[in-house]
Amino acid sequence: MQYIAAFDIGTTNAKGILVSQDGVIHGEKTKPIQTYYEENRVEQNPEVWWQAVREIAQDWWESGFQPEEIQAITFSGQMEDCIPIDSGGKPVRRAILYSDSRAESEAQQILERFGEEGIRQETGNHLDGQMTFPKMIWLRENDPDCFSKTECFLVSSKDYVIRQLTGQNVTDPTSAATTGMMNLLERTWLSTWLSSFGLQSSYLPELLAPDEIAGYVMETASSLTGFKIGTPVLCGIGDAGATTLGAGVTEIGEMYAYLGTTGWVALPAAAVSPLGNGVFHLAHAPNDILIAIAPLLNAGNVHHWALSIFGDPNRAEGEEGFAYLEEIMANTDPSIRKVIFLPYLHGERSPIQDPDASGSFIGLKATTTRGEMSAAVLEGVAMAIRQVMELLLGEKEIQRITLIGGGSRSRIWNQIIADVCHCNVVVPKDSEFLPALGAAAAGFVRSGWANSYTDFSKGFLPVRVGEEYSPNARNALAYDKLYHNYLRLYSAVQALS
Ligand code: ADP
Repeated sequence: MQYIAAFDIGTTNAKGILVSQDGVIHGEKTKPIQTYYEENRVEQNPEVWWQAVREIAQDWWESGFQPEEIQAITFSGQMEDCIPIDSGGKPVRRAILYSDSRAESEAQQILERFGEEGIRQETGNHLDGQMTFPKMIWLRENDPDCFSKTECFLVSSKDYVIRQLTGQNVTDPTSAATTGMMNLLERTWLSTWLSSFGLQSSYLPELLAPDEIAGYVMETASSLTGFKIGTPVLCGIGDAGATTLGAGVTEIGEMYAYLGTTGWVALPAAAVSPLGNGVFHLAHAPNDILIAIAPLLNAGNVHHWALSIFGDPNRAEGEEGFAYLEEIMANTDPSIRKVIFLPYLHGERSPIQDPDASGSFIGLKATTTRGEMSAAVLEGVAMAIRQVMELLLGEKEIQRITLIGGGSRSRIWNQIIADVCHCNVVVPKDSEFLPALGAAAAGFVRSGWANSYTDFSKGFLPVRVGEEYSPNARNALAYDKLYHNYLRLYSAVQALS
């Protein structure tokens, strides 16, 4: 059988899957990745990413898969990194991760030079110290020894592994959109910006589309991984893009929400939305489409908080605890709900930008139960999702939303989201492998197994639908009334908190 080998080099784990031509996932493997934290600094050793890929490949050969069966190798990976490598392709130091904010003052210098509006027009986003561009300047100013050895700054963990396999320095436009130095609409590096800070664009990897061939497995890489010499290696796509593809969202009018510890709501868009609503923009795999993403600081963490407050103290917090919470919520009637919850326990980034915002309950009565309060918490997050959906969609309507991440394990929550947002909710199977599956889409397109990304999502992802929830008309109507008041709640309580 022939397979696309797809890797997702995430922050906590590297995952590998083999996808056959019928869209079925084989050989799922996961290897942990270590992170180094020190105050606002977050780093990883790129060699660990490469080692994880080698170990996953060895596991495949040991379990009977053959190198000859690999049609192409493709990747997804964490984005917005700063990975300086030397002329031999080896790291000159540990990689500086997206979550590292050491370069704030360098970001400020860039902001002063090009202005907030100028930066947004070119890059589609605001600029901050987490992006790659200010970190390159930081390295030159603070670690000249490493800087002098640097030949290229890679952007995504996957780019490093591609370099080891092929000898080529490449990245994809989705990852590059997080660097603060790519023109979003043209998908080209802003080389005049770099030279204005004394850096040459030759420091940057070549920009390739996700399904373009970055190179072929070299002899040395073949002996280290077991992949056949000459196997095509694709550029792949940064993880937010790969997750979007894996969720089957390739065309305008589709949407998905990720409910992990924190979350986001994302959809394909034709243009950049106005500044100030917290939405950021990436280049999507189809050439003429952007991804608009509204980040939510309050998602599964708020669900978890409800468990810690309203759960049964005698049950563990894990599986059993969440099951109890589901039970007490199932015993309440949404159509007579009066309690509303504003979910900003962790401040919020979208649709409001207020790091100091807090949460509130209103409408409590002497008869209010823990079940009702727990349901109100999940409804509050669902209303936040509806609010960012409305912000992202404008006048447009959507029929269904795909839900991924650990929060989608709550059946009650999935139904609440269908009712509050007035659309069908689809929960795919194996959602932890969606970024790798999204990366595999690039392999399907390159190999001619799918005509386009849309063809891939229409042809191969429906088999992955786990569950589908439709809105309950009676509950949806009741939630509309609560939502009307929900929208007024933040401004009403903000002055008091
Ligand atoms: P991340 O990878 O971002 O840390 P996950 O995708 O694992 O997060 O999602 C974590 C969230 O999943 C929790 O905060 C909770 O909302 C939800 N969750 C975890 N376990 C369960 C469960 N057994 N039942 C229902 N929801 C769960």
